Amino acid sequence: MDQPGAETREFAVKLMANLIVPTFVLDTNGCVIIWNRACERLTGVAAAEVLGTREHWRAFYETHRPCLADLLAEGRIDEIPVFYADSDALTTLEQGVHAANWCGMPRIGKELYIAIDAGPIYGDDGRLLAVVETLRDMTRQKNAQMTLEALAARDGLTGLINRRSFDDILLREWQRARRDRRPLALIMTDVDQFKRYNDTYGHPQGDECLRQVAAVLQSALFRPGDAAARYGGEEFVVLLPAADATGAMLVAERIKEHLARLALPHPASTHGRVTVSMGIAATEPDSEHEPAVLLAAADAALYQAKHAGRNQFAIAPGVE
Ligand code: GH3
Ligand code: MG
Ligand code: MG
Repeated sequence: MDQPGAETREFAVKLMANLIVPTFVLDTNGCVIIWNRACERLTGVAAAEVLGTREHWRAFYETHRPCLADLLAEGRIDEIPVFYADSDALTTLEQGVHAANWCGMPRIGKELYIAIDAGPIYGDDGRLLAVVETLRDMTRQKNAQMTLEALAARDGLTGLINRRSFDDILLREWQRARRDRRPLALIMTDVDQFKRYNDTYGHPQGDECLRQVAAVLQSALFRPGDAAARYGGEEFVVLLPAADATGAMLVAERIKEHLARLALPHPASTHGRVTVSMGIAATEPDSEHEPAVLLAAADAALYQAKHAGRNQFAIAPGVE
């Protein structure tokens, strides 16, 4: 095959240098052989600083770690998930690999979410010659996506996490508790005689009352892993990882106290103010059960608390 002429080579180099997509190329030793202008603009690192070195990681990270192109050049494809939480390695090496992650970008001093494609370049004899890495700044899109996800996980009225999101968290905590052989506790909470509250004050004030009850639940939680969610209508649920029934009772007491201190008037109710009933269930999760049993046990205990006169908690039998 004919060798490309000097003119063609020059054109190829110019093309790469001026490509609008930030791009760098490593040889099989992991040394930078191309670092184009768009890559300089994105990283704040000049080509002259990295060409011929293996220091390209410094453009992206504070501490030493491989870039996607390094993993490809070194045949370490299986390690991609270790370094990139968001990755989908394509099926064949010929097609290259894709990943995305947050990069500290030390030189520009601004964290960016960068989508990365890395692809191998083979010679006519099938030998690996180089690896090309192209970069896309996806920070704006990632932030928008995270904002949407955070909004979708919340209940619009109270700002607590919503039921769907709670169910995900419960499953995760259930599995973690099983692995760590630790207990897990739930407090199912329901506002007492709330229909009468609405009847007395109207629906909008009922909404305001639910906001206040939500704030009380939140204020009763101290540990970082504890979570309060709006489970439906005027029903809330509190999840207490690593807590047993005794620990959950302390939280339930606190909820009662905080609500008593708030003293929201509810003349049509038994106690003259807004109160809640609570059902507590705690267990050490095992492989034979699912989180639903804990929810069902807490629900049954809540039912007991209601029947025993409301404004109190009951503990699910056999789990205290
Ligand atoms: P109990 O003490 O047995 O729990 O009686 P209750 O009246 O609280 O229970 P019931 O299930 O009969 O009524 C619940 C009421 O909660 C009825 C419903 O209109 C009201 N509710 C549910 N969701 C909302 C909401 O988002 N805003 C308002 N204002 N009211 C709601
Ligand atoms: Mg109720
Ligand atoms: Mg209810």
